[in-house]
Amino acid sequence: MRINRTLRLGIGVIAVALAATACGGGSGSETASTADHVKEGKLTIGIKFDQPGLGFRDKDGAYQGYDVEIAKYVAGKLGVQSDKITFKEAPSAQRETMIMNGEVDFIVASYSITDGRKEKVDFAGPYFVAGQALLVKKENTEITGVESLVGNKKLCSVKGSTPAQNVKDNYAKDVKLVEVDNYSQCIEALRSGSVDAVTTDDIILAGYAGQASGELKLVGNTFTVEKYGIGLKKGDQETRAKINDAIEAMFADGSWQKAFEATIGPLRDSTLTPPAVDRY
Ligand code: GLU
Repeated sequence: MRINRTLRLGIGVIAVALAATACGGGSGSETASTADHVKEGKLTIGIKFDQPGLGFRDKDGAYQGYDVEIAKYVAGKLGVQSDKITFKEAPSAQRETMIMNGEVDFIVASYSITDGRKEKVDFAGPYFVAGQALLVKKENTEITGVESLVGNKKLCSVKGSTPAQNVKDNYAKDVKLVEVDNYSQCIEALRSGSVDAVTTDDIILAGYAGQASGELKLVGNTFTVEKYGIGLKKGDQETRAKINDAIEAMFADGSWQKAFEATIGPLRDSTLTPPAVDRY
């Protein structure tokens, strides 16, 4: 009797576990394609949550920034309204995995198009061109640009990002790289004095500098070219072509310029020319 009950319970547990696996987390949506999601009128889009002016979740849970505007416009062109978008945080080091696992339909998160990443995901765009730069405290006079990256200075960047890789590849013997999960942690480290500078794309740093009311400053010129793309599942040619169409429409109808000016634009003096979309 006892044994039987235990056995029955055991079988019950296994059956429940199998049923849960078969469901793949509820709706089966993780295996559905972006085209299926569009048909259902919804999309899950990866953005940053902590990059002011670019991808930012405010204290009321609202999403703001240039990347958010790009995401909404593209979704709209695909036929999905803004209120049917689920935004998911996509930290730099997790972006390829999130796309490959089907956790998101696509990612608009200061995401540079690189050959290495293209082995795992595809990119629409570029929709913007940024460049690696340096952010320091306003009183710092020692670091004036990339040429100051000597003397074992402590530099903060984010795991899985192109700027961190660039430091490892080219400045490893001259500086000490501190790697964290997101850029707001780097900003805290800079403010507390545990690092000398933060390095990533100029447009990201401009967002933090803008928030810091003069406490932090960008120094020197940019020293890489970061073409921002919209990352999506490798091989999904159909969605990529549609997103490329949407990006070009955004350039053409003035929404791209407007989105920039309404978000990060005022924080970054730049001449704004839309990049050529690469339909590789
Ligand atoms: N654009 C760079 C990259 O994709 C740095 C910004 C970021 O980490 O989001 O790695």
